[in-house]
Amino acid sequence: MAHIVVLGAGLGGAIMAYELRDSLRREDRITVITKDPFYHFVPSNPWIAVGWRERSDITVDLAPVMKKKGIGFIVQPATRLHAAENRVELADGSSVAYDYIVIATGPELAFDEIEGFGPTGHTQSVCHVDHAVASRSAFERFCENPGPIVVGAAQGASCFGPAYEFAFILDAELRKRKIRDKVPMTFVTPEPYVGHLGLDGVGDTKGLLESEMRGKHIKWMTSARVKKVEEGQMLVEEINDDGSVKGEKSLPFGFAMMLPAFRGIPAVSGIEGLSNPRGFTIVDQHQRNPRYPNVFAVGVCVAIPPMGPTPVPCGVPKTGFMIESMVTATAQNLGQLVRGQEPSHVGTWNAVCLADFGDGGIAFVAQPQIPPRNVNWSSSGKWVHLAKVGFEKYFIRKVKRGNSEPYYEKAAMKILGIDKLKEVTQG
Ligand code: FAD
Repeated sequence: MAHIVVLGAGLGGAIMAYELRDSLRREDRITVITKDPFYHFVPSNPWIAVGWRERSDITVDLAPVMKKKGIGFIVQPATRLHAAENRVELADGSSVAYDYIVIATGPELAFDEIEGFGPTGHTQSVCHVDHAVASRSAFERFCENPGPIVVGAAQGASCFGPAYEFAFILDAELRKRKIRDKVPMTFVTPEPYVGHLGLDGVGDTKGLLESEMRGKHIKWMTSARVKKVEEGQMLVEEINDDGSVKGEKSLPFGFAMMLPAFRGIPAVSGIEGLSNPRGFTIVDQHQRNPRYPNVFAVGVCVAIPPMGPTPVPCGVPKTGFMIESMVTATAQNLGQLVRGQEPSHVGTWNAVCLADFGDGGIAFVAQPQIPPRNVNWSSSGKWVHLAKVGFEKYFIRKVKRGNSEPYYEKAAMKILGIDKLKEVTQG
């Protein structure tokens, strides 16, 4: 009998536990350890911030699902992974021993790297459902007294899709409230060009996103570095290709939402051979740490090198499709290991994304992630918004039911068979 611990129960951790239930032997034990008893569908957070969703719409109570599936469930934050001792220490002082552990702890949000930045400072966030709920109150207050909006991402960020999504969602909601004419909007990003997305663009994401921004009167600043934020004022530097400062702008705002850079959570950071300097977990092609071969990692916590040098640092996004492919490979590899075999499964790590614009959107597929690619495709239209809503509903239902069937793969096939998908979503 082997004991497998899954640390974290977000997008990666929840489906990791479900897939392990199928891939391990009956006698093997699985325990999920998480600081949050609920699963939240993170991609819907931007909709919460403008009142298009309620918190309860995107939340799943995991305890009954885990119980039904015979998976141990401990709600306690991990405080330290003792990888050399095969145990994880929890906030209540107890320790859980394991034969194998899968780290799925997502990101720590590095708001503290910029003065005045983040929900305890002067900018809003949609990274966590609690932040999205707080953003909604701030947005409602803003709508009573509209002014300029700043949206975007900070230097070192890796998750750009939701920043674009939120800018367009705000635009759609402000138009609905008939106050868009009172709101100058600026998009601030470390990307060297609009639509880079940390992937050096996919298909024509540059053209598509620039055109959408122009059409919706959203100005932008690229290669931008946020110096500090004060109440109602963001100080931003524009950086030249050689790294020198081109100029500095003070952007006034009545509402600002900026995505932070990510790093690994402290419990798994600063461990020689396990984590990189930002605290992300180092894995090989089998999702396995080379120094500690009984440690695996999936999701945003995995170390992936940037696409290439950019004047302002930009990370590579880790999106749902990619995470699911990491999860499936890890479940199959652990299934092999407990049966005395060597792991042989490799995640595809392809990027397949739907970015919602409130009443339209863009979809892109990058296979592989690093150019030149076999598939380098992007497209836009109302169908993307409809597909994203359908996807949200499916995924939340899947987590509620403890369904272990990989879904992103199937959805991507539909996207690649684009005419079929359009037919389905528009019909
Ligand atoms: P998370 O879902 O963040 O889960 C982390 C888990 O670890 C949580 O359960 C947390 O409670 C737990 N945890 C944290 N610290 C501890 C601790 N100390 N001890 C125990 N447990 C701990 N991707 C897409 O493909 N499409 C999208 O539309 C999309 N939209 C996004 C929108 C936003 C706003 C953001 C931020 C990301 C989006 N992503 C999207 C990217 C990605 O899919 C999500 O970030 C996804 O939630 C990442 O999954 P994860 O399992 O790695 O981390």
